[in-house]
Amino acid sequence: MSTWMPIVLTEQGDTLLERSDRRGAPPLSDETSLGGGVHAICGGCIDYRRTTNTHSVLLCRACGLRLVIPADVVTYGQLRGHLTTLQPGQAAPA
Ligand SMILES: [Zn+2]
Repeated sequence: MSTWMPIVLTEQGDTLLERSDRRGAPPLSDETSLGGGVHAICGGCIDYRRTTNTHSVLLCRACGLRLVIPADVVTYGQLRGHLTTLQPGQAAPA
């Protein structure tokens, strides 16, 4: 298992988990290109899609959670950093 930490996406605590079906893929790290994941508790699959010239979205197939992010956020680490700047003081779950 990787030591990658889930990413808290919203003030309400919506959290992006690593998908469990990445068999054979290298362990997820913050340098990995953004590719979606699993919505904690909801259990839905989160897709990552480029939607405009300037932005992308993270979209949960099950509950409709939709998070708009800048298009230059292209790795999990950049996503983590971007969300930290939006939510100062919010730490990832231990
Ligand atoms: Zn969901």
